[in-house]
Amino acid sequence: KSPLVMIPGPTELDASVLEALGEPSMAHADPRLIEHFGRSLELMRDVFQCKAGQPLILTASGTIGWDVIAANLVEPGQRALVVTNGYFGDRFRDCLEAYGVATTALTSQPGTAPTVDEITAALSAAGSSHFSLVTLTHVDTSSGVLTDIKACAAAIRAAQPNALIAVDGVCSIGGEELRMDEWGVDVAFTASQKAIGCPAGLALMVLGERAMAAFNDRVARKVPVTGWYASLANWLPIMKAYEARQPSYFATPAVNLIVALHKALDNLVGFPGGLSALFARQVLASDAFKAGIAAMGLTLVPKTHASAAHLLSAIRFPQGVGAGDLVPKVRARGAVITGGLLAPIKTEYFRVGHMGVSALQASRDDLLVTLRAIEGALIELGVAGVTAGAAEAAFNSVLRK
Ligand code: PMP
Repeated sequence: KSPLVMIPGPTELDASVLEALGEPSMAHADPRLIEHFGRSLELMRDVFQCKAGQPLILTASGTIGWDVIAANLVEPGQRALVVTNGYFGDRFRDCLEAYGVATTALTSQPGTAPTVDEITAALSAAGSSHFSLVTLTHVDTSSGVLTDIKACAAAIRAAQPNALIAVDGVCSIGGEELRMDEWGVDVAFTASQKAIGCPAGLALMVLGERAMAAFNDRVARKVPVTGWYASLANWLPIMKAYEARQPSYFATPAVNLIVALHKALDNLVGFPGGLSALFARQVLASDAFKAGIAAMGLTLVPKTHASAAHLLSAIRFPQGVGAGDLVPKVRARGAVITGGLLAPIKTEYFRVGHMGVSALQASRDDLLVTLRAIEGALIELGVAGVTAGAAEAAFNSVLRK
């Protein structure tokens, strides 16, 4: 039996998604494929909570989200404020720089996110309408830190009304609440392999009305897009055609993944009780998992409970233990977890993903298997204060199984 995939994406997959993935091949102009594509675009408006948004599905990993934003929504020489709380925010900045955008980074200590006051100060210091774009990372997957997008977006809009607000939701969308319309987020994106619950290989983006207006204005001013595969000019007609259930071609989509994506999005939107029940269940699963971790005497990288993400946990190693000791022993007990990623604390913690079916389906015991595996490994390593069964008891006391 394969070990459970308990990293922060790719994730375990629902049987229905695997079945969809296994359907016989189809032509990309097949009406059945066009239906899967068109319906997936429609469902994205629900998942991203952006009713009038323009959805986009690209055959690529999440990284292309940065490229699309850098190539289309900000012009070379314009300024972007990159609010970064870790490795992925830093990469968003690198990508913007590669397209000639002048960036300013607002950074924070590992385990924290820049505060609303710091964001306001950075924007106010720059003078009115100075930044064309402000970027936020909803969950920094390297540190497990959750950013309060609602509060940050409100502060950005107040300080710089003309700046577009972009959210990297790769480790959040579909599992962590994000309300684009209500919170004033102009563009957000994710990848298929995380909370969406699909295999890796697709990038999903929704552009709100202000982002579309900015792009259309750029086209009207004849400012060329600085890219080709990432060019909205190439992709928007394709997305519109698919949604109108018309065949269209710019580059071949990953046909089988699109079939799987449709099923995965159906599962999210059709979650019993709706998306709000899904987010609540994800929070409960995360709280239960973190209670199990605390029962082993371990602490998290995020400094506060409110800033700890719900789709993964970044956990500090106990004294004398490193990733090289723990990760293989946990794998041998049935769960794949991973090491730290964020310098300079990279070697001081490990990460466990607990999203998608592993967190949402009450019939699965993935989270318990993982806690038991970590506990067993720590006991084998002779870590003091770890008692067999304590993590499971703490987990169950939160989830009331
Ligand atoms: N942003 C965040 C927050 C991520 O977690 C990741 C991947 N872990 C990416 C961007 C890049 O996505 P991908 O690896 O799918 O290209």
